[in-house]
Amino acid sequence: VKKLAKQHTKNAHDINEAAVLGAGIMGGGIAYQAASKGLPIIMKDIKSEQLDLGMGEASKLLGKMVERKKMTPAQMGETLSRIRPTLNYGDFGETDIVIEAVVENPKVKHAVLKEVEGLVKENAILASNTSTISITHLATVLERPENFVGMHFFNPVHRMPLVEVIRGEKSSEEAIATTVALAQRMGKVPVVVNDCPGFLVNRVLFPYFGAFDLLLKQGADFVHVDKVMEKFGWPMGPAYLIDVVGLDTGVHGAEVMAEGFPDRMKPDYKGAIKHLFENNRLGQKNGVGFYKYE
Ligand code: NAD
Repeated sequence: VKKLAKQHTKNAHDINEAAVLGAGIMGGGIAYQAASKGLPIIMKDIKSEQLDLGMGEASKLLGKMVERKKMTPAQMGETLSRIRPTLNYGDFGETDIVIEAVVENPKVKHAVLKEVEGLVKENAILASNTSTISITHLATVLERPENFVGMHFFNPVHRMPLVEVIRGEKSSEEAIATTVALAQRMGKVPVVVNDCPGFLVNRVLFPYFGAFDLLLKQGADFVHVDKVMEKFGWPMGPAYLIDVVGLDTGVHGAEVMAEGFPDRMKPDYKGAIKHLFENNRLGQKNGVGFYKYE
């Protein structure tokens, strides 16, 4: 994977400043990861409580490093100061790349991407952290689709090495190269993949969630399934994993996948995951999903 990534970085542009849209699970994680590798990053959200949450998570992670003597309090302060939380687009004219990490909804993403394209410089790259939505489809509202790519991090961002860099139909080689180089600079292992709903990893993961849902429908106990998958050797079972991902993100992603692959995933499937989501059990982000969190 590393060798392949190297071939892609030949035409990379310099990135001196980045921005992330959304300060949720992923946006906050992306901001933390960039700042901890020395890259200044603007973090924009529409809710101030989400910005507080994003900054709080970054402080918590850095605080642990100070406790373990891997960082001094001064270095922690310096790292945190590289993240600039904001509710408005003030400084977007200077940014070299904007990573969109708002909710998994094509309409919201289209609106946000179109809006931000009008504010950044001509050659700035726009990247989407979407889990499932086709990059070519997201690019249809853009004036400069050649500057747009997928940059799909995994959760939790600071621990998961892989980043999928997704080539939309019109993505330029420079945009791919710059995004690959940025992922490497952020300490990640990029893999360039072609565009389709779910890309590579989620084409494997979503059918797994579907199979889990079906097991529950047939009477399996989710705690039991989780324990069995842990004994099988996976770091966590499917119920815990969907709680980490967020049941809202899971359900919205499953809808996109069902539309893209109607022969493989049922669009109207109403299993336990959807039921919990409809009862506002969103997982770790709001304290209750399959499990309860303090
Ligand atoms: P989240 O619900 O934790 O956060 C979404 C954030 O976007 C919220 O803070 C919300 O206030 C903000 N937002 C909504 N509209 C906005 C706008 N117009 N401008 C700026 N901010 C806005 O969701 P998340 O889990 O961080 O997911 C974000 C994206 O990342 C989705 O596309 C999701 O599919 C993808 N993703 C999620 C995971 C995961 O495991 N959760 C993993 C990889 C990719």
